[in-house]
Amino acid sequence: MKKKINWPKYFEFDTTQYEQIKRNFGVEKFLGMGLMPVRGPKGFRKLDYEFARTKLNVDEVINKLEQHSINFLGLVVKDTDGACLWNTEVGWNPTQRDILGEFCDAGNDHNINLIVILTSMNDAYQGAIHPERVSVHGRSGKKDGLEFEKGQISTHPESEMRVDLPEGALFDEYHELIPFLTEKFDDKIGKARGTRGRGYIPTTSFMCPNSEHVDYLVQLARELVKHYSVRGLIADYIRYDGGYTDLCACERCVEKFRGKYGPKPKLLKSKEWYEFKADTITEYGKKLHKTIKVNDSHCISGWFCLPGPKKMISQKRLGQDWEKLSSIFDMSLPMEYPYLMGTRDDGLFWGKLADFFYWYYIRNMKKRAHEFKNPVLAITNSVECNNKEMLKQMRGFNFGYGIALFKYYGTSEEQWKAIKIYAETELNLNY
Ligand SMILES: [Zn+2]
Repeated sequence: MKKKINWPKYFEFDTTQYEQIKRNFGVEKFLGMGLMPVRGPKGFRKLDYEFARTKLNVDEVINKLEQHSINFLGLVVKDTDGACLWNTEVGWNPTQRDILGEFCDAGNDHNINLIVILTSMNDAYQGAIHPERVSVHGRSGKKDGLEFEKGQISTHPESEMRVDLPEGALFDEYHELIPFLTEKFDDKIGKARGTRGRGYIPTTSFMCPNSEHVDYLVQLARELVKHYSVRGLIADYIRYDGGYTDLCACERCVEKFRGKYGPKPKLLKSKEWYEFKADTITEYGKKLHKTIKVNDSHCISGWFCLPGPKKMISQKRLGQDWEKLSSIFDMSLPMEYPYLMGTRDDGLFWGKLADFFYWYYIRNMKKRAHEFKNPVLAITNSVECNNKEMLKQMRGFNFGYGIALFKYYGTSEEQWKAIKIYAETELNLNY
């Protein structure tokens, strides 16, 4: 029999907060599945608008979730590319389809609740049309073999997603639809798991969290909560780009920093600078939470948290202050993906590496659990790992209220079967 970790003893949040989430969600235990409509029908290394526009079958998805005792769908309505998959007035929707509306209707008919996931600071499309809102490098440097200079905007080649041209389309035509597409082509699959995509390389941009991009995001959130019956809105990429330590040094940010702390504290590396970054992200969190509640007081707000060391990653790179963010939102969702680092199926080395990360992620949660001031629900991966690894993560990171999985496309039939058994025997979810 598996050994269970008694998570509640590590957490310090108030049980009444937990009851409120349970009431609003309307389920005793949570079992969620994430879906990223723009990433095609397999893994998540593609950006595929043709799939979202013409092939994504909403009824089929909802039926499958219902058949496997899943009670929540986490729909990524805006991914890192920036496409807004609903009937939006302010955003950009290249699919010409109200995918969220379709899921809301189908979910209603089948008792599948909906949570929307809004990618925040990472937005390739906004980066292409609003370069003045992209975060700015504070020093020159080199990453992944590419050089960047101080003062340059942080728009870089995307590491994860690749794009295929639709049949018969020419690059120039397609570039008009996707302004962040480059003519560079990646035709080999890399060894590292983050470099497995093939196709045209798009750019990616982390927007400045002190720019008008924040107002744009708040407008999008308002549309989502006001016009659609969603149980929750979760902010993803509510942070700076973790790949760099010198963001954002744009004029807006420097002026604001100096206005608050005076001429003395160092830019980019001082206690004050890290505090400034965290407060900037927190400020966005407050605006977002308020917008959600004003438009639907029952809609649960949340944020995706990247586990890791507090000083080196959360503070210095991401600007995520767990205490502050969890004091604002209704719940926190740590992203526990150790078996995205590797799987035993790819060989012993990758299996061992991922086992190490699993151990580390568990330890990191135990160590930092007290920083959460609200209920915590983890998301873990089903994609790119095997059945055994998936179940190990589902059990290990179920902090008491259940677990969310990432993601629908890429989950094997064997895994679907295991999810159903887990739902019925371990979470007692039955229809
Ligand atoms: Zn800035």
